[in-house]
Amino acid sequence: MSRRAQTAAYAAVIAACFATGMAIGWLPPAERVNNIFYDASLAREPRQNWTPQSAVVAIDEQTLGRLGGMRNIRSILAGAVARTDAAAPAALAVDVLLADDNFDVWGNQSLEAAFRRARNLILPCDLIRVNGALKWEDPLPRFAAAAAALGHVYRDAADDSNRQVPLEEIADGKRRWALALETFSVAHGETAPLENGPSEIDTGGVAIPATHSETGRKMYVRYLPPVIPVVSALEIEAHRELLRGKAVFIGVTAQAANDQALIPFGYAIPGVLMHAQIYETIARGRFLTDARYSVQLLFCAMLAAAAGLIFALRSGWPAYALAVLVLALSVWIPVEFFHHDLVFPFFQPVAVAWISVGGAASFQHFFVQRQLRRSESEKSRYQQAIHWAAHEMRTPLTAIQGSSEIMTRYNLSDAKRQQLSEMINSESKHLARMIQTFLDVERLADGQMEMKRERFTIARVIETCLARAAPVAERKQIRLCTEEIADATLTGDRELMEYALYNLLTNAVKYSPAGTEVRISAELRRGELRVAVRDQGIGMDAKELKNIFKKFYRTRRAEASGEAGTGIGLSIVEQIVTHHGGRMEVSSEPGKGSCFTMIVAAQSPAAAAKNAEASHRRG
Ligand code: ADP
Repeated sequence: MSRRAQTAAYAAVIAACFATGMAIGWLPPAERVNNIFYDASLAREPRQNWTPQSAVVAIDEQTLGRLGGMRNIRSILAGAVARTDAAAPAALAVDVLLADDNFDVWGNQSLEAAFRRARNLILPCDLIRVNGALKWEDPLPRFAAAAAALGHVYRDAADDSNRQVPLEEIADGKRRWALALETFSVAHGETAPLENGPSEIDTGGVAIPATHSETGRKMYVRYLPPVIPVVSALEIEAHRELLRGKAVFIGVTAQAANDQALIPFGYAIPGVLMHAQIYETIARGRFLTDARYSVQLLFCAMLAAAAGLIFALRSGWPAYALAVLVLALSVWIPVEFFHHDLVFPFFQPVAVAWISVGGAASFQHFFVQRQLRRSESEKSRYQQAIHWAAHEMRTPLTAIQGSSEIMTRYNLSDAKRQQLSEMINSESKHLARMIQTFLDVERLADGQMEMKRERFTIARVIETCLARAAPVAERKQIRLCTEEIADATLTGDRELMEYALYNLLTNAVKYSPAGTEVRISAELRRGELRVAVRDQGIGMDAKELKNIFKKFYRTRRAEASGEAGTGIGLSIVEQIVTHHGGRMEVSSEPGKGSCFTMIVAAQSPAAAAKNAEASHRRG
């Protein structure tokens, strides 16, 4: 792999790690982890010196017990409203739904009367589903007429712990602000909250960040520990000073009302206290908002990039130490964001950091290992090749050296001189060819060289090889015979094929005793050419047969034969045949002889001609 391809692959791995981390961060379990982190951050917020601006008048168990229970709620409420109003609150919000006429004639009358007298009264409305459509359930007109505003008490079912509450709800073409928000407006002498663009609500001098989204305008409630005063409806007179000038929320806290809300601190509070908490969040004016998505993306991308760079530039323990730093940073980022009132999903950066560190470390680890293995195998291959080249070149060099020495030292006849110079010429050509072959085979093995693709007949290859091997065979008194030679055309590198066949021939001669025969045949069967070299030599047993294509392997018999060899030739032959899309087959019997067969694809001349014509026409 080139350096550039390597870098690209590494970058792709890091990008994939980043994408995976981000994707995992969108799964529901990640959401749960984010919520746990959010709740813990909220609970760990340092306490501030904050005087609550609201109070709760609780129609509690005792109140209901003493005053006749839920049946009498309207009368009880009427009394509580009247007494609270007498304490001069800044606003008075009622968290008891008054949509139905409950046939409590006296209760309704007294409540209506109490409402009329009350100043800055805010009444609740709720969303109900009628025939699949959401509708507002408003207080009866006789009550609503007395209210300065209506505010909704709807809670989002999707948020199990009321981390965020909807400030605005629209149904039936009517928009309603949350009860606490309306109360805040009224308490600050305004008629209604003011919408300031799509991402802000202004009221009472506070700008509330509440962006329009598909889930409505929501606000994170910054819950206070239990510091908001809660006064029993039975004890209003005794605690008037707690209510004076405050926004007072009146509601039922008794279990009978079944109005409890779970909050991020892990416990439930009465619904009416929930409104007071929302009110306090607005009054404090310090809001939590979601970190912008582009910022989240940027931070996560930076973590992935850091992990990638660390393992690209460093290795060993410094890399791992830096990686731990990145992991720590991924945890620290959401914490630090929270300190700056920004809610940053906890899971995503952590997932991106871990996966990227893992991906980068494994890539570098495996890459370094592969690199090492490659360089080692390259080294040994190179050593083998040098070994082979040195050995193979010695023979022609000795011949050249010897001939030239004879020519200079002795006074030779012209004919002899001619013969020797021809010999020098042919041996040096042989040497040059061998060097070329050596370089070609090297490059072939390295994958650098494109094999030539030419057409040639097997007959020609055999003829050339026989001519070259003839003197060697003659010296050993071995007869080279040709059997049936098929008329077949091959496509590939002729010189390499010649090299391979010549090797098989010389091996057959080398490992055969004098007076024997070496037979060559070439059969074409169904597009497959089988070129066989059969000898009557020393042969090999089955175990030896398995190893002969390994570099440097020589059989015991070959060593004992006294024939020089390196054990490389056959491995090159196999490489060449494989590069031609073919394979080798060997059969042998110790003491009887061997048969080496090259099997490659070939065509009969008729088929070759037809093909050539077709490709010519296409061309
Ligand atoms: P070299 O001939 O230089 O030793 P080769 O790679 O050509 O190397 O052959 C590897 C081994 O295979 C030889 O050393 C020999 O043991 C065995 N071998 C090859 N050809 C023959 C053959 N025709 N008959 C018997 N053994 C052979």
